[in-house]
Amino acid sequence: MPERAALDHDDVLGRAFDRRLARRLWAAARAQRPMLYATVALFPAIALAELAQPYLLKVAIDDHILAGDWLGLSLTAAAYAATLGILYALRSLEAYLMALVGQRVTHDLREALFGHLLRLEAAYYDRNPVGRLMTRVLNDVEAVSEAFTSGLLAIAADVITLVGVVAIMLWMDWRLALVTFAIVPVLAAVAAYFRLRARDAYREARRRLAALNAFLQESLQGVTVIQLFARERHEHAIFRRLNDDYRRALFTSTVFEASLYSSVEALGAVALALLIWYGGGQIGAGALSFGALVAFIQYTNRFFLPIRDLGAKYTVMQAAMASAERIFGLLDRPPAIVSPATALAGGGALTSVNGGGALAIAGRSPAATTDGAAIANVDRPSRAAASQIEFAGVWFAYDGDAYVLRDCSFAVAAGEHVALVGPTGEGKSTCARLLVRAYDVTRGRVLVDGVDVREWDLVRLRRRVGTVFQDTVLFTGTVADNVALGADPDAAALRRALEAARARDFVEALPSGLDEPLGERGANLSHGQRQLLAIARALVYNPAILVLDEATSSVDPESEWRIREAMHRLLAGRTSITIAHRLSSVQHADRILVLHQGRVHEEGTHAALLRRGGLYARLWQLAMSRDAAG
Ligand code: ADP
Repeated sequence: MPERAALDHDDVLGRAFDRRLARRLWAAARAQRPMLYATVALFPAIALAELAQPYLLKVAIDDHILAGDWLGLSLTAAAYAATLGILYALRSLEAYLMALVGQRVTHDLREALFGHLLRLEAAYYDRNPVGRLMTRVLNDVEAVSEAFTSGLLAIAADVITLVGVVAIMLWMDWRLALVTFAIVPVLAAVAAYFRLRARDAYREARRRLAALNAFLQESLQGVTVIQLFARERHEHAIFRRLNDDYRRALFTSTVFEASLYSSVEALGAVALALLIWYGGGQIGAGALSFGALVAFIQYTNRFFLPIRDLGAKYTVMQAAMASAERIFGLLDRPPAIVSPATALAGGGALTSVNGGGALAIAGRSPAATTDGAAIANVDRPSRAAASQIEFAGVWFAYDGDAYVLRDCSFAVAAGEHVALVGPTGEGKSTCARLLVRAYDVTRGRVLVDGVDVREWDLVRLRRRVGTVFQDTVLFTGTVADNVALGADPDAAALRRALEAARARDFVEALPSGLDEPLGERGANLSHGQRQLLAIARALVYNPAILVLDEATSSVDPESEWRIREAMHRLLAGRTSITIAHRLSSVQHADRILVLHQGRVHEEGTHAALLRRGGLYARLWQLAMSRDAAG
């Protein structure tokens, strides 16, 4: 899988400049271009102000101090102060613009990434750990914005200053300039050596940090299990090791970085010594002025600094390009599950949801929808509203050719209540996921109202099929937010959905009722209460089809009774598929489908299947004997 390969190498630093990526970054920063131009326009002015200072010093010494011209000295001092002021103002403006550009690029890229991630299908998330995707949205984006500020722009500014310094030094005294430049080859070699070492060490440190991150995330997510199984010491030991590794790697990288800086300082001192030795001799011989030597010493400093930092900027660019590659790799990965281009006859799905039957599928017309009547009669939709379902020769594998469903076919008539049973892992929940296109079939077809689900508009399909999965995901927000999920049903409608789900009593008993804030992931609710909210959520759009993945085994008998009772009432008038992980609840289904080895192995009513004496009868006996033993 190419995307996987790309994602797995988070720490590979490649080229510092890639024309294709640069072009895309340039496009991504379209909105910031005027500011980028403005920033670049400041550079020559800044360089000029900076280079003027040593020269003013020379003038002050040679023309005024040594000549005893106090008025001239005062004027030069004033000019020097003015240059400082201008430099200060220009630098402030530069920093302001750079921060603005960098942060806006970060902001826009982050938004684009999140929007894209929201559209990617479940299978993508199966293959890409959340921690890694968070790195994409948080760290990589940051690294890219550095390409603009600490990378490209800073390099451009340095190069302009450097060219100016070299030119002015050559102009003032080319022999003295060559003495200073003599040190450059040594400097370049030393800088390159330490820079390479520092970069490798930095890369290693990043890798260790990624390992630490991943471990931390997993541990915190599973902290309750760690505590219950008394694994704290074990986990702590692993963390300590990872943490030590990271510290060591980081320290190595810091040592090289520091060596680089101190070597450049030392070489700068050598250059200075050479300059004073040679320049002093020249002054003695009357070939050089005292002021010129002082100015040269200052120019030399300004000459060494950009050379020292160029390496660091190179690394920033490398990191930024690698991050950009990963970001664009993710943005270029098209969502695999989308509405077909012709699914809707005009109108946005979201805005026209209340348009009822007006939303015919292009070229086809599934039975009039109940969308328009949403909520009003959530308790009892009319029978005409029910939909049919058909699985026709469905093959499906999550990965490769490990097929979970193999030529699986069955149909559910409008208004029929079907129970899907079978041993764990046979693919019952998978059927539900295929029905709402959380995944797409590998082969075969899943049809709702005679139309392949791949031809349905996704939003409409998912509103038609209400799903209650085992894991109820709740978000930070109020009860109402969680049931409505961003849609805007009125309070009465919400209350009706809650009533239908038998959740109204407990919600009204909460201190703030519908406006009660839920803790993170609904931590302040019981498992059963969370399930009831999930049922209410599925009912907000009054779906014609309900898919209930029963998870009653994990709740107390009182909640179980409530949930079951709620579900039972809800099924009236709708087509339903109940995925039963326990058999005790399926006797009343119109028909029971027994899934085995990837297809429907047996089907019939409870009584008929028992009479048949096949797999279902055996599972039933097992369940009964277990209940008796329990
Ligand atoms: P059931 O609901 O019948 O217990 P599922 O439909 O949840 O079974 O799963 C069927 C099979 O598919 C199982 O073997 C399970 O391990 C596998 N499976 C389920 N979800 C995924 C997934 N996201 N990625 C890979 N395999 C999966």
